[in-house]
Amino acid sequence: MRMILMGPPGAGKGTQAKYVADRFGIPAISTGDIFRANVSSGTELGLEAKRYMDAGEYVPDEVTNHMVRNRIDEPDAVPGFLLDGYPRTLAQVEELDGMIKFTGHSLDAVVVLTVNPEELIGRLLQRAKTEGRADDTEDVIRRRQEVYAEQTEPLIDVYRDRNLLIEVDGLGEIDEVTERIFAALTAVKQS
Ligand code: AMP
Repeated sequence: MRMILMGPPGAGKGTQAKYVADRFGIPAISTGDIFRANVSSGTELGLEAKRYMDAGEYVPDEVTNHMVRNRIDEPDAVPGFLLDGYPRTLAQVEELDGMIKFTGHSLDAVVVLTVNPEELIGRLLQRAKTEGRADDTEDVIRRRQEVYAEQTEPLIDVYRDRNLLIEVDGLGEIDEVTERIFAALTAVKQS
């Protein structure tokens, strides 16, 4: 299974990514987590990424693409992977197409979690209290929603046109949402 989990910041992607990937026995690859790990350990990549992340902007495509290419070349990702937070721009979609084609495989599904915008801001402000992420201040939260709408929402139509898109209601208890995602993916696997 090679799949993407998409959704606006605060839709619960990270939580769902881990459950879904576990169930399919594939790694959940979160670009945000990889960037944060690099920021914590003070690598050059982390230093570069941090200034964009703190402002709620996207890290440049070349940097992000290179990082994902290296990650999906690792042995655990050979049988499949779930991408959480990538691709986020049309240029990243093209890059990912190239990476997957190179391995002789294809993308199986793109799941989009849908949540209404007011709910999202509330969830993010809550997360700011519990996790204390540097990019969870109100201004940055709003900027991240704008960037998502401008740069990432257009990807939904691209994947819909390819018949890969599965929209899942992201509102509700965590395990309810997980079950909805499984049900939708099981239908894909059997078709
Ligand atoms: P996330 O944890 O997925 O919300 O990502 C946190 C931050 O990392 C984003 O706001 C971006 O600054 C950066 N980031 C994560 N994934 C990408 C990506 N695919 N392209 C560019 N920037 C990214």
